[in-house]
Formats: sequence, C-alpha cells, structure tokens
Amino acid sequence: MTMNTLPPVAKSIFTFCKKCDADRYHVVLAHTSATSAKVKCEICNSTKTFSLPKAQSKTGKPLTGAAAKKREQTANARRSSHRNEYDMLMSDESAKVVSYSMKEKFEKNQKLKHPKFGMGFIRDALNDKIEVVFEDEIRTLVHNR
Ligand SMILES: [Zn+2]
Repeated sequence: MTMNTLPPVAKSIFTFCKKCDADRYHVVLAHTSATSAKVKCEICNSTKTFSLPKAQSKTGKPLTGAAAKKREQTANARRSSHRNEYDMLMSDESAKVVSYSMKEKFEKNQKLKHPKFGMGFIRDALNDKIEVVFEDEIRTLVHNR
C-alpha cells in the first residue's frame, strides 16, 4: 500500500517510532506541509515528523521518470538475486543429481531434475516436503509418499 496524501488530522497511521524502535500507531496532530505531518506515538507519546515516502513526488503525481525507473530496478534486483542464488547452487559440482518422484525420499543439497520445472536445487528437506530452488522461483514439493 502506498499513500499519495497525508492521513487526516486525528487519524492514526502505522509508522516507525524511533523511541520504541518498532512500528507503532501514531496519531496525526497537524499537517506541517503538503507532504509532512506532526505525529504522536500512541505507545510512548513521543512526537515526530512523518513525511510521505520519498518515491512520491511532492505534487502527488503518479510515479514517473527516475522514481518509476528506481522501482523497476528494485524488482530487477530481486529477480537477479534469485537468479544468482540459483546459479550459485547449480555450480555445486559435488551435489548429486536425482530425478523427481513424489515416492522417493530426497535429501538436502541435491540437484533435482523435474519433468515440468527443469533443474532445481533442494535447499531444504523435511519429512514430507522439499524446498527446491528452480530457475524461475522456489517451489515446495512433496516427497517420501
Ligand atoms: Zn513510540
């Protein structure tokens, strides 16, 4: 959820309180500008200035240009970090390659050949479930049936 406008005075917003060192409800005391407001923590009563997230433009227009690009880059970074983990796991030459079947019992740190999802790496193995890192995403599969 992203806020485009400040919450009205006397309403509560959920935001980080430095004093509590946790996310707390804060009552809005007053608006100090178009993008910031004075708020009071409901737990410790400390006041602070709440500002709308930086990604929002001051005029409340939708994200354009640099801000939109930054958001896109964050999404790409998340995708590429999954890809990095997959590549790193796949580069483990010592891992045994096994073929998936729900009747088999698999161990952690094995490479799994799946007929539909392709090659994956078993990151974790429980009694009846395995967590497998595939190229596109992490999936939980059943085993040991
Ligand atoms: Zn507080």
